[in-house]
Amino acid sequence: MPDRSLIEIRDITKTYRMGAVQVHALRGVSLQVDEGELLSIMGPSGSGKSTMMNILGCLDQPTSGEYYLDSVDVSALDDDALAEIRNCKIGFVFQTFNLLPRTTALQNVELPLIYQQTGFMQGVSGRERRQRATQSLEMVGLGDRVHHRPNELSGGEQQRVAIARALAMQPAIMLADEPTGNLDSRSGAEIVAIFQRLNREMGITVVFVTHDPNIALHTRRIVRLRDGRIVADEQVEHPRDAETTLATVLAESTEDE
Ligand code: ADP
Ligand code: MG
Repeated sequence: MPDRSLIEIRDITKTYRMGAVQVHALRGVSLQVDEGELLSIMGPSGSGKSTMMNILGCLDQPTSGEYYLDSVDVSALDDDALAEIRNCKIGFVFQTFNLLPRTTALQNVELPLIYQQTGFMQGVSGRERRQRATQSLEMVGLGDRVHHRPNELSGGEQQRVAIARALAMQPAIMLADEPTGNLDSRSGAEIVAIFQRLNREMGITVVFVTHDPNIALHTRRIVRLRDGRIVADEQVEHPRDAETTLATVLAESTEDE
């Protein structure tokens, strides 16, 4: 079966108006992402990475250009329809985790399921919701942390809760904007290992932004942005395995002790 484009953007621009000044954050970006891809986006600060991710994640609309998500013309949708398609298809993970502070890991993961009353969650009981949230936390290795609050978890664990929260919604695509930006190299490798596993075992399409070339080398494709344009789009010949990286990081940290 040939891969089919899950994401296709054509000549997307985004211009922010700041009073009299215009900021051209994206200056005509075209990109196709096939189902099952694992790719990273790199580029200097201010090059438009977050702007592009927010558009891909249906969190924001472009100024001009077209966006087809699973063959649906997203640029034509109103806010409600956009929210609907976002809930059904996209899991979004942020650099700063964005968890509710006084709420347990389990509740953080359950919350979007409570708000999702259509599609696969229609008529689902509280018990089933809890089960699904628990399973998602187990998938990211936090089965023994479900009742912890964010301040009782490390940064890496908080990010894993955020991934579980996205995962519970059964997204086709996982988008992450610098998910390892606030983490040490070990926690970063753990996050990348989870993304590799979700991609490999569940077929989830994964796109994440990173500043770290070593992290990017764990994906199969690297897209580079500069000044609001794509300047490179390369395949990675032999993507690194994050479990192996993790083992190396762990061995090095034991040596240091
Ligand atoms: P990156 O994520 O690569 O650092 P961004 O997409 O955040 O880049 O920003 C691209 C450009 O758009 C920058 O010049 C930034 O200052 C500007 N920008 C981003 N968001 C806004 C906004 N909400 N309003 C005005 N300008 C913005
Ligand atoms: Mg950014």
